[in-house]
Amino acid sequence: MKEETEFYLPIGLTDSKGTLHRKGVMRAVTAEDELELQESDGVQFNDRQRDLELLARLIISLGSLPQVGPDSLMELYEADFLYLQMLFNSVNSGAKPRFRCPSCGAQNDLDVPTLFKTKDTEETKTECGFSLPQGSGLKPEIGTKVKGKMQMSRCKDYITLYRDERARRSASWYYVGLLTRSVKKLGAEKAINTGVISKLTPRDFSFLVDLFNELNNGVVRSIKSPCSCGSDIRVELSLPGEA
Ligand SMILES: [Zn+2]
Repeated sequence: MKEETEFYLPIGLTDSKGTLHRKGVMRAVTAEDELELQESDGVQFNDRQRDLELLARLIISLGSLPQVGPDSLMELYEADFLYLQMLFNSVNSGAKPRFRCPSCGAQNDLDVPTLFKTKDTEETKTECGFSLPQGSGLKPEIGTKVKGKMQMSRCKDYITLYRDERARRSASWYYVGLLTRSVKKLGAEKAINTGVISKLTPRDFSFLVDLFNELNNGVVRSIKSPCSCGSDIRVELSLPGEA
C-alpha cells in the first residue's frame, strides 16, 4: 500500500483552454523510483530535471489533467515547484515545520499539504512592475526613470539554464540568465538579452535580483497561518536547499 497525500498548489497550472489545476495527489517515494531514475541517467539529467522527473512519477493527479508528466510540470511556476519540494520532504519524512505564536506563545505545526487549500482572496500576482534605482546606460521610455516589468519564472527556465555551464559555475551569470528570461520590459530597450542585463550597474542588478527572489520565493517563504488563539501569524519558512 502506497501512502497518498492530497495537496493544493499555491498558484497552479493553467492549461491551453484556460482551466486552472491546483488540487493534486502525491504518493510517497519508494526505493524503486530512485533506482529507475538512476538507470535513465544516460539522458544527462541535471539536478533540476531529476527533481522534476521524480515529482512527475509521484504526482498521481493534478486537477483534471489527463496525465501528469515531466512536460506538463515544466510549465509550473517556480513557486509551485518550491512548494512541491517542500511537500515531498513532508510526505516522505513526516516532519512538519513548527512556529511559535507571538501573541499566546503556543507552538503550532504547519500542515504542508493543506497550506494553500484556502488562498488569500487576492490572486497571487505572477508579474510585477518596477522602477530601477539608477537606470544608467538604459533608455527610459518617458521621463528619467527606467521602468520595467518582471514575470514569475517557470520550471523550464531553470532547466535550460542548468545546461549552461557559465551559469552553473557563477552566481552572477546564473542571475543574468534568470533575469534575461523573466524581465519582460526594461525602459525603451527593444530586446532584453544577456548583453542588456550584464551591463546594468551593480546597484540596479542587485535590485532586480532581490525583486526576482521576492516575486518567485515570497509565495512559499512567507505564509499566513492561524493559531488556536485566533491570531493570524506570518510564518517565515526556509526553502528546500536553504540552510
Ligand atoms: Zn496564539
